[in-house]
Amino acid sequence: RSGRSAALRARMEERLLGARFRYLNQQLYTGSSQDAAQLFRDDPAAFHLYHRGFERQVRRWPERPVQRIVRYLRRRPASLVVADFGCGDCTLAASVRNQVHCFDLVPLSPRVTVCDMAKVPLAAEAVDVAVFCLALMGTNLQEILGEANRVLKLGGTLLVAEVASRFEDVHAFVRAMTQLGFKTVSKDLSSSYFYVLEFAKTGPARPGPAPGLRLRPCLYKRR
Ligand code: SAH
Repeated sequence: RSGRSAALRARMEERLLGARFRYLNQQLYTGSSQDAAQLFRDDPAAFHLYHRGFERQVRRWPERPVQRIVRYLRRRPASLVVADFGCGDCTLAASVRNQVHCFDLVPLSPRVTVCDMAKVPLAAEAVDVAVFCLALMGTNLQEILGEANRVLKLGGTLLVAEVASRFEDVHAFVRAMTQLGFKTVSKDLSSSYFYVLEFAKTGPARPGPAPGLRLRPCLYKRR
């Protein structure tokens, strides 16, 4: 019957989509941010596929991490200028009154400035808050977080929301952040899905290795 073959076809398509999403996801977490930029420049369709897969994953969670960032910003003055690194569909910018600079590799929304997050078109010390919400994907973490340091004002806030299982050692991670010119303000490790870390910029990033600044790739299982 045609109903059955349509259902079978839909299931096959779903499987294929899942497999391509997992493959793309793995590439994003195991390469540098420059590799990611190249990947999506060469194949913009891959980006849309990645985002469909991402949405499906996050919908399974009890809470979207970006909602935590929204709540945080609503408690603070709306005059604070924000940079959203890896903004996706710009949910953050659409949910707060602050001026938000949205950066991503491909524009899912007209608000997006297309760039690699390791090199954003902002002057030094231009923003009060820098956000990475499930966006610390590249292996060049030190360079990416160094860029956030550059654009943040002294005393400015860095918010990182990341998948809990990516942290090998949260304490080693926050220790490494001091090398990058950030002190820890708060750590919310209460969700088993994701952690939210708040830092304040204490000065410029210091050069040299920052051991401990490591995150495991977030690889999704086949379901
Ligand atoms: N912050 C959004 C989206 C998270 S998905 C949210 O919480 O809903 C991660 C986003 O980071 C994706 O949109 C991906 O395209 C983006 N990203 C990954 N590597 C990037 C890079 N090198 N430069 C800019 N954006 C990047």
